[in-house]
Amino acid sequence: MNDENRHPVELSNEVIDSGRVDGQPVNRFNQQLTEIDDGIAVVESFSHCWIQKTEEGLVCVDASGPQAGTAVVESIRKWSADPLHTLIYTHGHIDHVGGSGAFLSDSKERKHNSPNVVAHEGVLPRFDRYRKTDGWNSIINRRQFGGIRPIANFGLGKALPKFLPDEVVEPNQTYRDELAMTVGGWDFELRHARGETDDHTWIWDSKNKAVFAGDFVTWVFPNAGNPQKVQRYPIEWAAAMRDMLDAGAEKIYPAHGLPIVGRSRVEQVLGDIAEALEHLADATLELMNEGATLDQIIHEVDLPEHLKEKPWLAPQYDEPEFVVRNVYRQFGGWWDGNAANLKPAPQAQVSQEIVQIAGSVEVLIDRAQEVAESGDIRLACHLIEIAVAAEPFHEGAHRARAEIYWHRRAAERSLMSKGIFASAARESEVVFGDETDQKSMRSRSEK
Ligand SMILES: [Zn+2]
Repeated sequence: MNDENRHPVELSNEVIDSGRVDGQPVNRFNQQLTEIDDGIAVVESFSHCWIQKTEEGLVCVDASGPQAGTAVVESIRKWSADPLHTLIYTHGHIDHVGGSGAFLSDSKERKHNSPNVVAHEGVLPRFDRYRKTDGWNSIINRRQFGGIRPIANFGLGKALPKFLPDEVVEPNQTYRDELAMTVGGWDFELRHARGETDDHTWIWDSKNKAVFAGDFVTWVFPNAGNPQKVQRYPIEWAAAMRDMLDAGAEKIYPAHGLPIVGRSRVEQVLGDIAEALEHLADATLELMNEGATLDQIIHEVDLPEHLKEKPWLAPQYDEPEFVVRNVYRQFGGWWDGNAANLKPAPQAQVSQEIVQIAGSVEVLIDRAQEVAESGDIRLACHLIEIAVAAEPFHEGAHRARAEIYWHRRAAERSLMSKGIFASAARESEVVFGDETDQKSMRSRSEK
């Protein structure tokens, strides 16, 4: 059977019980609806939409992203014609609220009442922040996926679509710490905890011992480090895992990836996520308390070996090194501990000085390539950045830079690193503007 059509619980049990993925997709975006339990279904999308049938209508958890909303609603409608009674956002990220316009249109077309839209109170200020930083958010999102910032003279100058689409429906009911609700005979509780965001909700169904977990469980290493985004909360995230376990969870319905069914599987996956985050946070704080610098900390703290190859902790999106930085930022300031960086000279001036000492920019470029070939890609990137900062229009420097970053991208696992390194390579390609070379380098490095 096609993996895309396999029952998510069956697939999930197999992966957790074996501890191996074996090439099976654990995060699927097939827009298909599967009934997981009596009256509970999921549409696997970007994010998933979870649906609970009740006597008064459907309760949906998350609306998926702007491009997926219509397909998600279509899948729901093949399963049930009941009115949509309540839509809950687990948090205000676009991939969870972006499809809400399609849910509202469906209610209108069917002449049903508009759904009650419920979320943590932090979702509203988040939407305000998105409007205030619309350009910034569009640029960093583009970079996260390997794109470059729009500059008029290379064809990307056309206005980007709004980061928060106008169609997104604002919650009409919010809460702060906890909210018990009953809809059509279904009792459930909304519980707030910080983790990936400050506005996160997990939903507890005590009768079914089920947690609708939002992004607290995503089947990849927790998005608790994200280099370009606002503060994440690794310690609070781990605490939320422990709270779900203490509540007695036997089923986890996540917003990304497969459902987790069975107490021992829930203990294993949630326990591993908590342990990973607690370890990174504790080790970082211990070094901070000894007065270590950020530089020392990021090169010393690492995930314990036994957690590194767990399929539910794969560093495919975010990664442990970035979580260390987020812990440092949460408890420290922005200064990295290097006195020169407190009030630095312009980067170009420092770089020109180094080039002068080296003798020429070519010496640096050659050394960067040599170091890259010998395998120290971190160091090679520093050297090539000095070269282009000293001579921003040097074609050879940019050719070497593009090559080094395509090479680095290929060696990385997380989307965040891959995206930023690809974006850097593309920036240099724009400077020397050689289409053919770009393509060959890309295909070479993507192999
Ligand atoms: Zn998400």
